[in-house]
Amino acid sequence: MDTLALNIKRGSFLKSCIAVSAGMLCSSPFSFTNSVTRSEKRDNTFPALFGIETARGIECGLCPNGCILKEGETGMCRVRKVVDSNLRTLAYGNPCSVNVDPIEKKPLYHFYPGTRAFSLATAGCNLACLNCQNWTISKTSPDKTRNYDLMPKAVSESALAANCETIAYTYTEPVTFFEYAYDSAVIAREHGLKNIIKSSGYINPEPLKEWCKVMDAANIDLKAFNNDTYLKLSGVRLQPVLDTLKILKDNGVWLEITNLVIPSWTDKLDEISEMCRWLVSNGFSDTPLHFSRFHPMYKLEQLPPTPVDKLTAAAAIAVSEGIKFVYIGNVPGNEKEDTKCPKCGSTVIERQGYTILSSNINGECKNCGEKISGRY
Ligand code: SF4
Repeated sequence: MDTLALNIKRGSFLKSCIAVSAGMLCSSPFSFTNSVTRSEKRDNTFPALFGIETARGIECGLCPNGCILKEGETGMCRVRKVVDSNLRTLAYGNPCSVNVDPIEKKPLYHFYPGTRAFSLATAGCNLACLNCQNWTISKTSPDKTRNYDLMPKAVSESALAANCETIAYTYTEPVTFFEYAYDSAVIAREHGLKNIIKSSGYINPEPLKEWCKVMDAANIDLKAFNNDTYLKLSGVRLQPVLDTLKILKDNGVWLEITNLVIPSWTDKLDEISEMCRWLVSNGFSDTPLHFSRFHPMYKLEQLPPTPVDKLTAAAAIAVSEGIKFVYIGNVPGNEKEDTKCPKCGSTVIERQGYTILSSNINGECKNCGEKISGRY
């Protein structure tokens, strides 16, 4: 998941976006209208897709958790609820976090580098990660957070007013606000905006294929390459995430992958090696892989940050296994922030944190002509 999104107060968006967007300014003033408090939104629900009637209740087919809900019950994600015998979503038009971010923050390094992403999230999540960075909003329900009233049309209007090229569905887990993200993405495309998701990828194939029709890029967390670790760390299974990677790629969505290296949890180099071999053998050698540094967080506060040497070793393994674009994240100033040509080694994009220092790319290395996969 991304760095903790700020829960911005009503009317303070402009100040907040200046504060959180390193090296970027929110140059076009705009304001949200009709902001509402949580009490005004409490009973507001919208129709949810993928509900299946069963003898035991309504089964939600959105994610592999497969919650079966009786009247009044809410799913594990705290977002989808049965109301009057229908599956409804509490997360529609009511984001609790809204920021303008550099696209590099997602991280997406090969998708219109240096551009701005209008980034939003509602409360809720369908995973149970011990290391959640956004637990203050992921572990609660959209009817309990202080929200904006920002319907899909207003999302595009706000993004354009903030000079953003993309809309990012991010911070918590966009799968759980599927309908809101989908409808916002449709309108965004009509305005010439692109859509990106930052997700754990725990979604069923059918809804994911629908998303692929409107999403342009995704960064998916591949948290571990061991099903037991996945279950203990995040409460979900590995295979559906692997399926998500394949579906996104097969459907032409630009994909980057993040692997958070957590000491004693996901830092086994033999498993990292196995993960990279799987990626290469399944056609992901051109897919950027970001090894991200863990910092003590939430229920894993007792752990140390990932040693940089471990990240360096993981990156070296990925390169040796054939991954062409390997990055180290959350380590400002690390040389693995830059994009290097996999053929001649020239620096094609130089970064410091989320800031582009120099760029020498138009889809290929200007030194040797090698293709640098991505969208530019
Ligand atoms: S999206 Fe939510 S309600 Fe639906 S199956 Fe997943 S956790 Fe359960």
